[in-house]
Amino acid sequence: MQGAAEAPRDCPLCPRLVAFRATNRGNEPTWHNGAVASFGNADGRLLIVGLAPGLKGANRTGRPFTGDFAGELLYKTLLEHGFAQGGYEARPDDGLTLVDCLITNAVRCVPPENKPTPAEIATCRPFLAERIAAMPNLAVIVALGRIAHDSTLTALDAKIAKYPFAHGASHGVKVGLTLFDSFHCSRYNTNTGKLTPEMFRAVFRAAREHLRGA
Ligand code: URA
Repeated sequence: MQGAAEAPRDCPLCPRLVAFRATNRGNEPTWHNGAVASFGNADGRLLIVGLAPGLKGANRTGRPFTGDFAGELLYKTLLEHGFAQGGYEARPDDGLTLVDCLITNAVRCVPPENKPTPAEIATCRPFLAERIAAMPNLAVIVALGRIAHDSTLTALDAKIAKYPFAHGASHGVKVGLTLFDSFHCSRYNTNTGKLTPEMFRAVFRAAREHLRGA
């Protein structure tokens, strides 16, 4: 996937992330080690916004959430709700395809310790705004975590204070566009029980119901 909605693989915009990429390339030259492009169908009605590639997951494989702990629950849930087809095997060549759906990240390059800075989130936001603008049939966005939620609202020129993040909440941000919130499906959130698989499923069930009625 290319174009204004995608950061170039060697995106030079965030000095700290560029330095981290160079280190990772030195340590693991066979890994992707670049901006991770969105995955799926740009003509889909559903956009899922994650945080940023995981070091040993998407940054290694080059496909969002692929090889990441978080991807296990995400892809399983998408398969259950008809937003994916095939089998997820944590490899970009596993043949999995997304249905009516696209996955992107608020920040396209892996940040140290999974923590992008506010400046990095802001620098990467034009790609997210372009991504959203380049989905002509978009009706639902699922934001995974508060950073994805906030960055999506800002990309949409909507006020964060008007649409507070809450797991399971939905917000009619624009005519024909609803934002659903979920806690991020990270290892930490699932291991601590902050997010159970059923809580996560419920968000995608609601998104599916919404699309049925749309
Ligand atoms: N992998 C991604 O691509 N995004 C996330 O938010 C987490 C893991």
